[in-house]
Amino acid sequence: MSDKYGTVLLFYTGIVVLVLLMASGIERYQNRFSSVNQNIDTQPESDISIQQNVNVQPKQDYSVNQKIDTQLDQHIPRIALTFDDGPSYYTEELLDGLKERDVPASFFLVGSNIDGRDRIVVRMYEEGHLIGNHTYDHVQLTALPEKVACEQVTKTQERIREITGYSTVFVRPPYGLWPKKMEYCVTMIPVLWNIDSQDWTTSNVDGIVNKVVDSARDGGIILMHDCYDSSVQAALQIVDKLKTQGYRFVTVDELLCE
Ligand code: ZN
Repeated sequence: MSDKYGTVLLFYTGIVVLVLLMASGIERYQNRFSSVNQNIDTQPESDISIQQNVNVQPKQDYSVNQKIDTQLDQHIPRIALTFDDGPSYYTEELLDGLKERDVPASFFLVGSNIDGRDRIVVRMYEEGHLIGNHTYDHVQLTALPEKVACEQVTKTQERIREITGYSTVFVRPPYGLWPKKMEYCVTMIPVLWNIDSQDWTTSNVDGIVNKVVDSARDGGIILMHDCYDSSVQAALQIVDKLKTQGYRFVTVDELLCE
């Protein structure tokens, strides 16, 4: 073998080695490039899973909110404002104030006070207040013969039904005295009270407000009278103060029928 042939062979061998090395380098480069692509391709999938987590999140928050709402519902104290002896000259102003505050109350009407104020009774009914019976002439039922006592209740009952079409089952006996024998002639639910404003003893609005607000409690039934200007002013202030304290005002049946 001549030196020339040997040199040529070495040259071609070198080229082959070089080509192989280059090919190997390109392959490695391609492998690395494709693995980067794979990483890029897989990225959106993990993004989707993150988005899925984000989408799921509100559902979890909603259920937490529901739990909180339910807990709040269970802990809202309820209280009922009740007014005896009306309707009177002052009742409409009270109804205006209650409507403005979106608060229902319970009115126990004296039958003989209804004449000429039918429209006020209709308004009470239409605005969602509870209407109850407080006898026709504001009598002490326990001091009357059974027949007369029954008439005192049924006569007022008829007046209320005549005006509103509503037949009330609630009665507040004057002085809180409900004779057992009454149960034989009228089927009614006597409604007493557990917070006495004693508003009929004073015209001091602040005094009435403080007395009631200091005695307020969950399930409270407040006794007031809508036949005094001071009582009407006090009642509206009581609503504002107790609402600020978190109380919800309800009609008295909501506290009794549980
Ligand atoms: Zn009364």
